[in-house]
Amino acid sequence: MNLIACKFGGTSLADTTQFRKVAQIVRLDPRRRAVVVSAPGKRHKQDPKITDILLSIHDMVRRELDPTPSITLLRDRFLEIERGLEVDAGIAGHLDRFEEAVRKGADRDWIASRGEHFSARIMAAFLGATYIEAEGSVFLTPNGLVDDKTWKELGPRLPETGLFVMPGFYGTGPNGKVKTFSRGGSDISGAILARAAKADLYENWTDVSGLLMADPRIVSDAAPMEKVTYRELRELAYSGANVFHEEAILPCKQANIPIRIANTNRPADPGTFIVPEDQAADRPIAGVAGRSGFSILQIEKTLMNKERGFGRKILGILETKGVSYELSPSGIDSMCVVIDQEDFDESKDGILEEIQKTCDPDAISVERDLALIATVGHGMAHRTGVASRLFLALAQAHVNVRVIDQGASELSIIVGVDAADLAKGIHAIYDAFVRN
Ligand code: ASP
Repeated sequence: MNLIACKFGGTSLADTTQFRKVAQIVRLDPRRRAVVVSAPGKRHKQDPKITDILLSIHDMVRRELDPTPSITLLRDRFLEIERGLEVDAGIAGHLDRFEEAVRKGADRDWIASRGEHFSARIMAAFLGATYIEAEGSVFLTPNGLVDDKTWKELGPRLPETGLFVMPGFYGTGPNGKVKTFSRGGSDISGAILARAAKADLYENWTDVSGLLMADPRIVSDAAPMEKVTYRELRELAYSGANVFHEEAILPCKQANIPIRIANTNRPADPGTFIVPEDQAADRPIAGVAGRSGFSILQIEKTLMNKERGFGRKILGILETKGVSYELSPSGIDSMCVVIDQEDFDESKDGILEEIQKTCDPDAISVERDLALIATVGHGMAHRTGVASRLFLALAQAHVNVRVIDQGASELSIIVGVDAADLAKGIHAIYDAFVRN
């Protein structure tokens, strides 16, 4: 292995002690040459994240309020870190120019990006590393995704030898100005740097020792996953697991770079490896995740199966009304569509009337407050008994299953249950597969 790219999140950079831990981790392995940093995060629960301070500064200027107290807070945090590390990264000068630009009405994204910018300047100085500017190296599409132009621009800017540090979270947008990714977007920058530097591994350093098999707010002692594939993780994240920025998987997946989630405060813990599919672990499930906030639209019509284009018409109406759908299990004479409740207000959108008019169903109804629970794992493919274990567990926990969906890829089994049964359902499935 030649090169490891590592990204450190906000809690890993919250103060001087954390900066020192990061430097120690980087220096421990000479292959760790490419570093991406977030803005300093919370030092304790009530502490504001630097990015939130920056966003509030922008908001205050916009509302013609005085941003001075927040600018002072920002100055103090960065100057304290620079002083504590005994380096000269020229932060006072950067902060002066920042304040001047803010008072002249600087852009929101530029302001929001300065946390990462200052953080990377300090880290580069502290490590004696080359500073790589993300602006002009990383490019974003109008939708805030990675623009392919990045691959041409960033690679040639990286030194052949030695350490280099790049700020996360931002790059250049289509209009040539600084643009940020969505919140938590430094994970994406880390993956971008890993791909551009042709890294063999992308380490994502955070404050947990890997990803857990279930939400710890529901299963308090959920076990960490040793290994999870890109696709398993995407399914879990989509189904509510709040783990790792989903868009960060793509650049690594495209270049087959495994990702390791590791803990800055417990660097010896193995963490979780996110790997290509051919390296999937041999166990029936990778994890279980779920979220509430769905509605089921149920349509019945005798001899529906003989009618061509029925499903297309229903989905067409939803499309015209700007509603996307999650699942659509159907029977001979019935079809149901599971929809995000936020997207769909049956009383306002006129969707039901439109369906009535166009499709002339026998009955149509909407049931709200559904939760979807996804049990995910490549290991369930071609393995008998996974579904029976899952449904037995739900039955024993008295959880009624409203909808069932298993994709042909056998990567996940999704069940729709009453929102009130979400935690009970996740517990039951977790216990059936992990504790037994
Ligand atoms: N600092 C940014 C945020 O708070 C990006 C990141 O930390 O990944 O969202």
